[in-house]
Amino acid sequence: MAKTLGHFIHGRPVAGGNGRLGDIYNPSLGEITGQVAFATSGETADAVTDCAAAFPGWAATSPQARARVMFRFKELIEKHMDELALLIAEEHGKVVSDAKGSIQRGLEVVEFACGIPHLLKGEYSAGVAAGIDLYSMRQPLGVVAGITPFNFPAMVPMWMFAVAIACGNTFLLKPSEKDPSCPLRLAELMLEAGAPPGVLNVINGDKEAVDAILNDPRVQAISFVGSTPIARYVYATGAANGKRVQAMGGAKNHMIVMPDADLDQAVDALMGAGYGSAGERCMAVSVAVPVGDKVADALVAKLAPRVRALKIGPSTAPDSQMGPLVTAQHMARVKAYVDAGVAAGAQLAVDGRGLKLQGYEKGYFMGGCLFDRVTPDMTIYKEEIFGPVLSVVRAKDFEEAVRLPTEHEFGNGVAIFTRDGDAARDFAARVEVGMVGINVPIPVPLAFHSFGGWKQSAFGDNNQHGTDGVRFYTKIKTVTSRWPTGIRAGADFAMPQLK
Ligand code: NAD
Repeated sequence: MAKTLGHFIHGRPVAGGNGRLGDIYNPSLGEITGQVAFATSGETADAVTDCAAAFPGWAATSPQARARVMFRFKELIEKHMDELALLIAEEHGKVVSDAKGSIQRGLEVVEFACGIPHLLKGEYSAGVAAGIDLYSMRQPLGVVAGITPFNFPAMVPMWMFAVAIACGNTFLLKPSEKDPSCPLRLAELMLEAGAPPGVLNVINGDKEAVDAILNDPRVQAISFVGSTPIARYVYATGAANGKRVQAMGGAKNHMIVMPDADLDQAVDALMGAGYGSAGERCMAVSVAVPVGDKVADALVAKLAPRVRALKIGPSTAPDSQMGPLVTAQHMARVKAYVDAGVAAGAQLAVDGRGLKLQGYEKGYFMGGCLFDRVTPDMTIYKEEIFGPVLSVVRAKDFEEAVRLPTEHEFGNGVAIFTRDGDAARDFAARVEVGMVGINVPIPVPLAFHSFGGWKQSAFGDNNQHGTDGVRFYTKIKTVTSRWPTGIRAGADFAMPQLK
């Protein structure tokens, strides 16, 4: 039976009341499996009101008690791992093993948030002058919101709400309308873990809900992850409204293959990082940069048969390496990029446009595509495709390999494969990209470090999770105190100086 999903407010599912609905698909089958309500601005405001009402009580809850909720939430996620992964696989289309891996990466942020009493300890300077002590504390902001993309319906919400809620904020999540089931389930599990109603509300919807969040003066901070044009819009509008905003956008991640690299290792890395999750990852490698024609020829010769042999199938089949794309429109967009690459003169070494899967003819499947001799002026190089399309851009030397990602407008992730520590160190120091892998194709930092790109891949000052996440979701208050009060300082009309 087709499902109809609404919102999750004050610990209860709430049906959408206005009749605006979006379709939910199973991309492997190419069928509509349900509908999701799109919230009006009024419904969004109601969800904010509920978060605001829950805030004082939650902020006054001790950090240890908040951490205990996170411990229980972690256990519940582990218990429900299979169920959550299936929800993701069925609505997103990524294969189950990949969905589990992404949940695990989100779970690691929950584990990080379990350490919140330690993270919120603040700073103390005793005796900075006669009877005077100085200390600073981190306090929660109030109601904060997260707006998340389709490609990580569990991990990215957990990046945000685990840290925000552990810090004592209440959280309004607006997940992607393409795969809303998993985020709703996460909110139910937070309730079961002991988070009081209103600490985590979920509102489903589109631009109307996002604009309501951006314009609501009660929302103190917004964390956004999605495409660059919307990230820029959310950052500009939220900041103009006086909010704290971090907005992560799109990417074009390069992987440099030096002449001394282990080529088989580099090919394995490119297969996983280029075609895993059908390329629908912000840290997917979409550009391979072999240095020198000899390496380039050998790399393409090894890659092409592997790309042709990719096991493409429904997301729930255990032997699928790559599932379908998320929607028919997105598949058409990716194929149009491949057409544009051919028209621009790039060499299409593997053409996956025509793939049809027996028994899944209506599914949004395409095969892996591999382009050789792509040049920086081509659209397929300049823009994010977000599909299973890898472009080989041949660099003549190391300097050109450093320059390509450095000059690209995006700056999310980059990798270099080499056995030369000197080159690797120099590359990491000079490249203008936020996250660098050395013989690691997808350098997503662990939860206790921070995730964030540079240039058009991220707007705002703080990265996701790690200590940056704690900084983002708290404001610092500094107290200068004099005890005992009997110490006479006298009237001083100059700028006070503590001696
Ligand atoms: P998207 O920008 O279309 O949507 C992201 C969110 O914004 C969704 O919740 C959506 O409902 C909302 N939204 C969409 N259009 C809007 C509008 N006009 N006004 C206001 N809100 C709007 O992104 P997507 O297609 O869901 O996700 C894929 C993109 O996300 C890719 O570009 C990918 O690189 C990026 N991404 C980036 C990171 C990162 O950390 N840098 C991580 C994951 C995904």
